[in-house]
Amino acid sequence: MTDHQSYYRKDCISPSHNTANIRYAIREVTVLARRLEKAGKRVLYLNIGDPNVYDFDLVDEAKAAASWALTHDKNGYAPSEGLPEALEAIVRDARDRQGIHNIVGAYTGNGASECIDLALTALVNPGDNVLLPTPTYPLYAAILTRLGVQARYYRLDEAHAWQPDVAHMASLVDARTRAVVVINPNNPTGAIYPEACLRKIIDLAKANNLLILNDEIYERLILEGKHVSLASLDEEACVVTFNGLSKSYLGPGIRMGWGVLSGPQEKLADYYDTILRMLRARLCASHIFQWAIRPCLEGGQKHLPGVLDKLRRRRDLCMAKIAGIPGLSCVAPLGSFYAFVRVENVDDDTKWCKDLLEAKGVVVVPGSGFDYHEPGVGYFRIVFLPDEAVLSEAFDKIAEFEFQRSR
Ligand code: PLP
Repeated sequence: MTDHQSYYRKDCISPSHNTANIRYAIREVTVLARRLEKAGKRVLYLNIGDPNVYDFDLVDEAKAAASWALTHDKNGYAPSEGLPEALEAIVRDARDRQGIHNIVGAYTGNGASECIDLALTALVNPGDNVLLPTPTYPLYAAILTRLGVQARYYRLDEAHAWQPDVAHMASLVDARTRAVVVINPNNPTGAIYPEACLRKIIDLAKANNLLILNDEIYERLILEGKHVSLASLDEEACVVTFNGLSKSYLGPGIRMGWGVLSGPQEKLADYYDTILRMLRARLCASHIFQWAIRPCLEGGQKHLPGVLDKLRRRRDLCMAKIAGIPGLSCVAPLGSFYAFVRVENVDDDTKWCKDLLEAKGVVVVPGSGFDYHEPGVGYFRIVFLPDEAVLSEAFDKIAEFEFQRSR
């Protein structure tokens, strides 16, 4: 028997071992939901962070620019790192509005997701490790699993408004730690990190030669307080900041995101070169939709006040409803459109969410889907994008479910 025959099963085409643990609970919960819906049950979806599923629509600037590009001969490949007009706008926005002054380069991708994948793939080797928050956005762990790299989870502290526990983060660093992921504003908690906390993370990264992967995809969706871009705080820190059109411009389906590298040129040169090589190997991001980037970034942002107004009202309604349900509590989100809700006396939040869906038709994502586990306590994430009537009905059903469960 050859090695190949003993290593792989003979009765099927064996899938890759590195992908065995890849999960994305945010979408996996919809499988059961669709089955129940097909069987005639009314289902309320509070799981997916897609504004277009609810009463939000891609901004007009993006629609006009993409239609123009489609009919003006922009259907060929674009440059691999990105359309020059788009890259100029991205760099200008990062520098002049966000205050990132030491930009080494920028690149576009099919969503921030592709940019994150490229940034990690260009960085790590098997045996390395990367620091991720818990709760986390599951994409990062999925990519690391595929790359054969260990995720080490630092705590976000619920008792301190879900701020990163930087002492815990520091305790996880060893000689093979390559990067720390910071998601700010945060998914799933909606937290925004204060400047002092960001400075502590920067100091830790600088002391240990870590790259900071700084995910700011919700950076314009600020409901309360102020957001400071981490990369603007220290010109010596090596940072890739991710952003895109999915959330702030309400267009996740157009798959347009970017990464901005900042820090000392001499420290980032080889790494940036590697990213550029990988970008060439995958040709380019959607040419058509890159034409939307500049009009969005340089447009009036006139959609934002209305969007933020709706989100604040919907968040406040959710917080009021949660406060009225015994056993539930939630740190009010300051940014994004998510809330991470705590449920007392739950051993298995995946089961809790499944039972809720089957009993009441409400779809939420279990805390364990964000790699968050606390003994005896469950969590679930909601999106507060649906209108007030849907949110109100959903929480009434959650209240009934909890009441029945507690008896
Ligand atoms: N980063 C975070 C924290 C997210 O929540 C999401 C999507 O939900 C992404 C990245 C992916 O963004 P994109 O749609 O641009 O790929």
